[in-house]
Amino acid sequence: MVTRFAIGDIEVDVVLKEIKNIHLSVYPPTGRVRISAPSYMNIDSLRLYAISRLGWIKKQQRKLLAQERETPREYLNRESHYLWGKRYLLKIVERDAPPFVDLQHSSILLHIRPDATQEKKQLVLDEWYRQLLKAAIPDLILSWEKKIGVRVNEFGVRKMKTRWGTCNPEARRIWVNLELAKKPQECLEYIVVHEMVHILERHHNERFIALMDNVMSKWRSLRDDLNRLPVKHEKWGY
Ligand SMILES: [Zn+2]
Repeated sequence: MVTRFAIGDIEVDVVLKEIKNIHLSVYPPTGRVRISAPSYMNIDSLRLYAISRLGWIKKQQRKLLAQERETPREYLNRESHYLWGKRYLLKIVERDAPPFVDLQHSSILLHIRPDATQEKKQLVLDEWYRQLLKAAIPDLILSWEKKIGVRVNEFGVRKMKTRWGTCNPEARRIWVNLELAKKPQECLEYIVVHEMVHILERHHNERFIALMDNVMSKWRSLRDDLNRLPVKHEKWGY
């Protein structure tokens, strides 16, 4: 017998069969939960059992999600892609016309020529992310220039392997990592603020930290959020 119940937003598939013990499993890639149990057991007791293992279930689901995020993309239909911290499914729409990307409720539609290579698909999506970042950053800079008391001359977006952002204090120029389009928007804001504060203080010293505390009191938790999110395969210190 196969049935299903939910604990909050976690759905649990139940399979009752001729076995002796309860087996609880969390399956990739989405973290689907399944309990196999002896056929004499009733749903209420299995629900209590699942609730008692909720901490473990959530931990397994977090692990799977993190693994999935780190897997290199192949630009295939129904593959997960992220925008502003939210997960979308990629839909490939093949058509013989110039490529473009369209965002829908839960999908990213990549309109692309049928013969496009994986590299080409990546290029088109990266360019889309770049444009979204370039559209979002000027307002952030504008509102933080007053609060921090600095002027930014120029900003740019580029792929970086080891850093979320960089700053050239003399030129008052900041760069942000293209990957930030995939993270929650507050993470972008934190990096923009961090790089702007570097215009006042180049090093991660006490003065820098005091300036950050002064303008953005919750910067530590944003930094920790960013470090918890996999940056592909790189680590990032500050
Ligand atoms: Zn820094």
